[in-house]
Amino acid sequence: MVDTCQLRFARADYDRLHAHLFPGDNDEHGAVLLAGITEKEGQPTFLVREVHLAMEGSDYVEGKVGYRALHPSFIHKMITRARDEKLAYLAAHNHHSDLSVGFSRIDLDSHELGYPALMQIARGIPVGALVFGERSIQSDVWLKDGTRLGLDHATIIGESVETLYPSSKPYEEIGDEAYERQLRMFGVEGQKRLSKCHVAILGLGGIGSLVAELLSRLGVGRFTLIDDDVVEVSNLSRIVGADRIDAEKALRKIDVAERVILQANLSAIVTKLEGDIAIESNAKTLAHVDYIFLAADSMRARLVFNAVVHQYLVPGVQLGSKVRSTEEGGLLDVMSANRPVRPGSGCLWCNGLIDITALAKETKTDEERKEQAYGVEEPNPSVITLNAIAAAHAVNDFLLDFLGLRSESESIHYEHFHHLSRKRMLVEPRKDEICPECSSKEGRFARGDGFGLPTLEG
Ligand SMILES: [Zn+2]
Ligand SMILES: [Zn+2]
Repeated sequence: MVDTCQLRFARADYDRLHAHLFPGDNDEHGAVLLAGITEKEGQPTFLVREVHLAMEGSDYVEGKVGYRALHPSFIHKMITRARDEKLAYLAAHNHHSDLSVGFSRIDLDSHELGYPALMQIARGIPVGALVFGERSIQSDVWLKDGTRLGLDHATIIGESVETLYPSSKPYEEIGDEAYERQLRMFGVEGQKRLSKCHVAILGLGGIGSLVAELLSRLGVGRFTLIDDDVVEVSNLSRIVGADRIDAEKALRKIDVAERVILQANLSAIVTKLEGDIAIESNAKTLAHVDYIFLAADSMRARLVFNAVVHQYLVPGVQLGSKVRSTEEGGLLDVMSANRPVRPGSGCLWCNGLIDITALAKETKTDEERKEQAYGVEEPNPSVITLNAIAAAHAVNDFLLDFLGLRSESESIHYEHFHHLSRKRMLVEPRKDEICPECSSKEGRFARGDGFGLPTLEG
């Protein structure tokens, strides 16, 4: 099998499946996963939306050919549901192996025997199998054109971001002296993961430019930058790497950020996207990155970011800083915020962080706003030190979570720094049981390309 696919799970779904497959009895167990699909350059990524555990004795029974098999009526129920929901059908079972796993000859024979008929019922949606080791996964997914897909890798997204392969590959040495000191903390494997990692930064103003600086110094290898603004003199107090000449030339903020990134890491690959984050083509590129930093402070950006995280199972963080004053200008609160957003841990809607009134206001042009007496708002205060605290904490979380460096898996918390009172507050995000944006029982979750994003054209 030359062609490959990818697989993404929310952590809670993977853990539930893993516990079912490996209860400690050294036996074989089964399940069916239904998954949304997103495609890039012909390679599909399957986004696990539903996990249906096969019950011993009724759904998972003695096989005619192999040792055990899914019961035909269970398969029928699942394939019909997959077809109706337009989700890929993936039958899962386990083998007793650890860091590498593959299908047996009997497994492959049974796919060849059974899948042509399932493909007929599925009417064009992909059908296939996954086999799990303790810490490895392989796939044999059939597409309607006859292609069969092995697994490139699977990502499990929760408080940490774990990557599993059909078999783990040894990492070669890294020759670059530039990383010598940080290697001592996260090792050759960690450095390699960073160099292969693709991050998106939404907004390259005060906070986003700091995020770009920090990530590129760490050795992150790929960046997608989205911003439609140019540098002005009034930005120079905050934008890393920008100077007076940039402001005079009205250089784009994404160009300044690219320069900063390449200064730190010449081999970084940078994709620059102009225009609003909410333009559909911009939003869709986010489905294929490994991590999203939302450093743009508009409600529309929050709306799109939040949708992408849950629809495509991409981990991200919303970060910002805020200064609140009294009418007379006295300071009430000076705050930096670092809010990780992960599938399964609530969303910006559940937590009241998307304000519908502000959202409606943003969709009007400045002209309309004047007419309707909303008024064009004064710019908010913005100070580099406040931005730096948010940026450093968000990038640090990315580093620890993405490389799996925390000793225990900590649950997700929003981090709020109230600087006047010197307080750091940890807030557990709310998670509504039935939320159309983030609940796995409702609308958007893991739907992939088959579902609309709340974009400007959409
Ligand atoms: Zn098997
Ligand atoms: Zn929600």
